[in-house]
Amino acid sequence: MILGILRESGTENRVAMLPGEVAVLKKMGIEVIVEIHAGEKAFASDAAYLAAGASAAERSDVISKSDMLLSVNPLISEEISSFREGQVLCSVLNPSENSKWLESVRLKGLTLLALDLVPRTTRAQSMDILSSMATVAGYKAVLEAASRLPRFFPMFMSAAGTIKPARVLILGAGVAGLQAIAVARKLGAVVEVFDVRSAVKEEVKSLGGKFIEVEGAKEDASAGGYAVEQSEEFRKKQQELIQQKAAASDVVICTAQIPGKKAPLLLLKETVMKMKPGSVIVDLASSSGGNCELTSAGHNILYDGVSIIGKTDYSSEMSTDASKMFGSNVINLLKIMVDKSGKLVLNMDDDIIRGTIAVSGKEYIGQRIKQILNIN
Ligand code: NAD
Repeated sequence: MILGILRESGTENRVAMLPGEVAVLKKMGIEVIVEIHAGEKAFASDAAYLAAGASAAERSDVISKSDMLLSVNPLISEEISSFREGQVLCSVLNPSENSKWLESVRLKGLTLLALDLVPRTTRAQSMDILSSMATVAGYKAVLEAASRLPRFFPMFMSAAGTIKPARVLILGAGVAGLQAIAVARKLGAVVEVFDVRSAVKEEVKSLGGKFIEVEGAKEDASAGGYAVEQSEEFRKKQQELIQQKAAASDVVICTAQIPGKKAPLLLLKETVMKMKPGSVIVDLASSSGGNCELTSAGHNILYDGVSIIGKTDYSSEMSTDASKMFGSNVINLLKIMVDKSGKLVLNMDDDIIRGTIAVSGKEYIGQRIKQILNIN
């Protein structure tokens, strides 16, 4: 197979694979062509790709020569017509935003491996780009808050007196939230955490956070380890307790999400107004509506002295390691999709492969994409 690595457009700084991972592909018997300057914004030169065994070419050549085209973000619609039937695209899909685009990919007879549809099972953990990017976001969110907060994170005993440690409240202890707890604790903050899944209680404690329990959370074993929507009564109780804790906090990191649904509203406007001036809220749930009522996705605002950060591109900001993790996840996925000679073999009986294929042969394939798009 010939795999083409494309350059991202717009403000995206990541590249789908760095030279280090290209060398692994070569060992798997896969030929690699990289678009000129593809790795530039992740600080990977064309020379480094060539040294790893790839060749470099203009975009149109990469597209025409490759069997599989790899990118971080979906390719632009206008480009789809230049592909030939049977070619394979591999990128993040963001299905709720790109259903029309996906339809054009299906009609063109292309196969799309949607990296955000990789089933979140134990066997697929090493292929899970959502976890990798959530790890980056959780880390960066805490650093962002620390750099904006007009106070120290750690406790200090200095000749000028004692500085109390910052108080950080973390809403949601999934992949991003757990990473945020670890980083905030390393920086010396006192950390309190809310989640509706009791399973995370021990993990929170082991990272040095205090788990705040709200009685009556609904859990559903059939939700595959994810959270489910809560009752109105629970939501009110939770919002009140969060209000108390937020008023005493310097930083709130919001990460609570429910797959396929709008993010739960946990920080109301009146809660923000009770927070100390100078406090910082980083809302990592901003792209699915935000946990804070005042969040504006992609924007940073100041409300009543409180900074509310709605950034959505932390992984692009940390382009080198985010690209490294992304590329490693792709390689682990390709390891179950290519034979010993490096040929792509899509075994539809494999749950990971089937789940990841959004469209192929002009059909919708994976169960999850069919669920999201309401296709029987
Ligand atoms: P997520 O981004 O969907 O949600 C983040 C967190 O928000 C979750 O912990 C969720 O319980 C919490 N949350 C939702 N509603 C809330 C509310 N009202 N109040 C407080 N918290 C709320 O989750 P995620 O980070 O993608 O991971 C969730 C689960 O999936 C975890 O158990 C994780 O270990 C598991 N997971 C498994 C794999 C795998 O096996 N491949 C990969 C990633 C995650």
